[in-house]
Amino acid sequence: MSQPIALTPDSCAKSVSNPLTSRRLQWKEISWIPFVFITGVHVAALAGFFTFSWPALLVCLVLHWVSGGLGITLTYHRLLTHKSFTVPKPVEYVLAVLATLACQGGPLSWVAAHRVHHAKSDLPGDPHSPREGFLWSHMLWCVTHNPLLESFDEFAKHAPELAKDRFYVGLEKLHILPTVLLGIGLYLWGGWSFVVWGIFVRIVLVYHCTWLVNSAAHVWGYQTYESRDDSRNLWWVALLTYGEGWHNNHHAFQHSARHGLAWWEFDTTYLTIRVMELLGLAKAVKIPSQDLLTKKTAA
Ligand SMILES: [Zn+2]
Ligand SMILES: [Zn+2]
Repeated sequence: MSQPIALTPDSCAKSVSNPLTSRRLQWKEISWIPFVFITGVHVAALAGFFTFSWPALLVCLVLHWVSGGLGITLTYHRLLTHKSFTVPKPVEYVLAVLATLACQGGPLSWVAAHRVHHAKSDLPGDPHSPREGFLWSHMLWCVTHNPLLESFDEFAKHAPELAKDRFYVGLEKLHILPTVLLGIGLYLWGGWSFVVWGIFVRIVLVYHCTWLVNSAAHVWGYQTYESRDDSRNLWWVALLTYGEGWHNNHHAFQHSARHGLAWWEFDTTYLTIRVMELLGLAKAVKIPSQDLLTKKTAA
């Protein structure tokens, strides 16, 4: 196995990552359960070519927003990982269940991996830096053993507050159950067409949208703020991920509920949080001050 490239914080701040740099994988590195699951979901999604219907596409798009937008972006990322706002506990639990529908793991493992990404961003130890290859950062890291992200003790080290919460510990173990129940419900409602589009096609689309934040948004786009890594603002990833593509802004101001900081940086998840705030559901919504924005503006 090739070693990760040695990086210093200074080299991260100045150099552009090379998407062609590849990390070579060996079979023994593959983590077989996620490998078989992710491959299987992609193969099953091919059935979408034979089961298309407009209602099924609508189900797919709505569930894409529910699992990828409300679930992964708003809940796993901005709420649970970065605490950029608060909601009443029962609402938080419901939102976390919606996030499991993206089949990206339970809350503890997702939050732990993402906190390690921010702590070591584009440095050795980052779980998914494109400096180890574009495909590595996009999807190969998900199907490879990482001893630092595979045990409850490691999750508890990086997400201690979630590890103390019995609901989240239970959801971590049973995170696939809501998807199974949703699949049964979709079958009873609309038959196999709804299952294929509402589960398999939708999960594949959400996968690649989320993964583009880790890959493309660390390679292409512009940097507005000093973040000491390769993170970039990339408009088309922001559109696909409900605002997550304003990734340089996010790395510079990790606790901000708002990722699109310029007027043209459209951020639908922040708009959703604002609506929740107006309804009294979201509180303590964090936004960087103008002073801080000015101080961290890249030269
Ligand atoms: Zn990042
Ligand atoms: Zn983050």
